[in-house]
Amino acid sequence: MARERFAPMPHIRPLPDVLVSQIAAGEVVERPASVLKELLENSLDAGAGDVSVALVEGGIKRVRVTDDGCGIDASDLPLAFARHATSKIASLQDLEAVRSLGFRGEALASIASVARVTLTSRSDGAASAFALSAEGGASQPARPAAHARGTTVEVDDMYFNTPARRKFLRSDATELAHCQDVFRRAALSRPEVAFTLRHNERVVARMTPAELSARVGAVLGGEFAASMRPLAETGGGLSVLGYAGSPDAARGSRDAQFTFVNGRFVRDKVLAHALRDAYRDVLHGDRHPAYAVFIEIDPRAVDVNVHPAKTEVRFRDSRAVHQFVFHAAVKALAATAAAAPTPAAAPVALSGYAVRPRPAQAALGLAQAPAAYGAMLAAAREPSPAEGPRQDDAAAPLGYALAQLHGVYILAQNGEGLVLVDMHAAHERIVYEKLKASLDTSQVSTQKLLVPVTFAADALDVATAEEHAETLHKLGFDIAPISPTALAVRALPSLLAPANAAELARAVLRDIREYGASRVLTERQNELLATMACHGAVRANRALTVPEMNALLREMEATERSGQCNHGRPTWYQMSLADLDKLFLRGR
Ligand code: ADP
Ligand code: MG
Repeated sequence: MARERFAPMPHIRPLPDVLVSQIAAGEVVERPASVLKELLENSLDAGAGDVSVALVEGGIKRVRVTDDGCGIDASDLPLAFARHATSKIASLQDLEAVRSLGFRGEALASIASVARVTLTSRSDGAASAFALSAEGGASQPARPAAHARGTTVEVDDMYFNTPARRKFLRSDATELAHCQDVFRRAALSRPEVAFTLRHNERVVARMTPAELSARVGAVLGGEFAASMRPLAETGGGLSVLGYAGSPDAARGSRDAQFTFVNGRFVRDKVLAHALRDAYRDVLHGDRHPAYAVFIEIDPRAVDVNVHPAKTEVRFRDSRAVHQFVFHAAVKALAATAAAAPTPAAAPVALSGYAVRPRPAQAALGLAQAPAAYGAMLAAAREPSPAEGPRQDDAAAPLGYALAQLHGVYILAQNGEGLVLVDMHAAHERIVYEKLKASLDTSQVSTQKLLVPVTFAADALDVATAEEHAETLHKLGFDIAPISPTALAVRALPSLLAPANAAELARAVLRDIREYGASRVLTERQNELLATMACHGAVRANRALTVPEMNALLREMEATERSGQCNHGRPTWYQMSLADLDKLFLRGR
């Protein structure tokens, strides 16, 4: 708003220190969880090996952190609550190469300006500990106290002196949940450090020093750990380590996404985007992948001083970081069937399990595939199907089909044992990848229908078909209105020839409407392709011949990411003979 023209001009005055800290506190200590974050950072910067957190009433009443770190020298103690006082950097060069979590020297001052704080510390070799208290910014002289080597900081009655801010705090349960988030991030960032969390005197979490994989499991849960895939790439001054959750471990929210840069938990668009892109092909819809990813980078290539809370960073070369992380994650996720999780076993494992050739006709519910079944299976049809299962494991990691179970699963045999394939999910994946490849090279081959398929459509569908004829054409469709309430499918992508044309057309029109015509060919393309693939893929209850099943297995081996369907469900399982033996309690 414009200042009133003739208002008296006030004089410029420096703000009192405490007020400066209280203003800064708005950014640094929003709630108990942000206090906890700052205290944990200080403990980790002090080289602690054991950190204990005790909260009372969600942290609003009390946040206390005790560590066994280096402690603070008695002579330095008076400066601990001073604004812009830090032991971590001394120059601009230091700032640019900073490795510690803290460096701004304002956390304790900010906290002390809005709460009652007591800091007790004993440095290495000191004869005794000293304690220092401050209340609303005014600190008392240090006094001798009892404490082992290390530091305890206790923060009581948050915002006791700023009731307006206190009103913004939520229920104890909500504040506790935020504190737990902060605790988890710290625990993930330093697996070698022991962490304990108490709330209202009760132990909520206890983590002993562990390998990264075990700590990740402790924080993200056993289900995540059971199927997580390691990421490990180094090069060009950058390294990416960590674990990417399998698509089955995806969640309804982003709360299991952890990214760290040089040991600091960050929320960063570049990293989030790279990881989202990496999952795009194995996961979509509203599922969010889970992951814990650790970036190590030359501190000079990243600016951590973007925001007082230091959870944002700016990479000097964000494109390079994006590419690197994206590729590392894609690599972790794109284990193809050929690089199966359980490699083919040596022939000796087969002793006692003579492999008998089976005639092709052993497939249950056998029926000749309709001619329109699709170019894929026809083209890949085996020359001599009567050979049945063979043991050429190098050429066929997924083995050879034995039978189809209830029209849903393919049972196959490989050197390892039994392979179970969800035929619809697997085929969907293959169709999807092929559609994608053909669209990427603008070579969608179209199949004209001898007899157009007409179907009743509502006005919206008719309008969409008319308006977006060109987009449809690019996708390999010819869908034209034949009346205000009917559409005719005259052509569709050859890959989808076996689909129910009317259902497919309706689904595609709906996607175009929902995502927008331009976006279904750009950022929403994969969603659309997934819709198409789902309709084009072989349906459950379609009887397949053994050669068709084998063709499908071979296609899976040749298809990237065929271990998951587009919805992130697994497409196949290996059951080894040892697994089966266990199942039957058969000692071998
Ligand atoms: P910063 O972490 O940015 O330096 P803080 O206000 O958080 O600023 O802390 C001020 C200083 O107090 C730190 O630089 C450090 O020297 C000392 N300090 C705070 N907490 C601890 C701790 N737990 N152990 C050892 N020293 C600490
Ligand atoms: Mg600090």
